[in-house]
Amino acid sequence: MSTPVVFAAPESLDAITSGRVRPELHAAVERCDWVAVDLGATRFMDMTGLGLLVGTLRRARAHDCRLTVICDRELILRMFRLTGMDRVLDVRPSLPACTRCERPVLGTPVTSPGDQAGRLYCTKECRDTDAEAAQEQWYPSGVAT
Ligand SMILES: [Zn+2]
Repeated sequence: MSTPVVFAAPESLDAITSGRVRPELHAAVERCDWVAVDLGATRFMDMTGLGLLVGTLRRARAHDCRLTVICDRELILRMFRLTGMDRVLDVRPSLPACTRCERPVLGTPVTSPGDQAGRLYCTKECRDTDAEAAQEQWYPSGVAT
């Protein structure tokens, strides 16, 4: 479970668009074990949009799906704070990408000890493969797993 299914939310999450994306979003959290709702393109959200996220979170929990919300827009973040949603939703400003495979890294990224370049990997396998490719000298035995 290292890669979420990313669901790109529309530019506006209002009564009309929320109703439109709800079935798809709900189906995604029922089917997948990890869904990230990307609000990167979303400029406007009203209470219907917020309700969509709450309903999706409830459904995700019922289906053992992890729900992450990607948002760095202050207007929407403020809405989350004002409604207390920032405490129940897993909101992140962005998805860090794996240095090797470029898949989004959520949870705790895998890093190498003493890495000055700030490289992040989604899995140990990615890190090990990349280190081999770069022929770097570091010591896997010293890495906490
Ligand atoms: Zn990777």
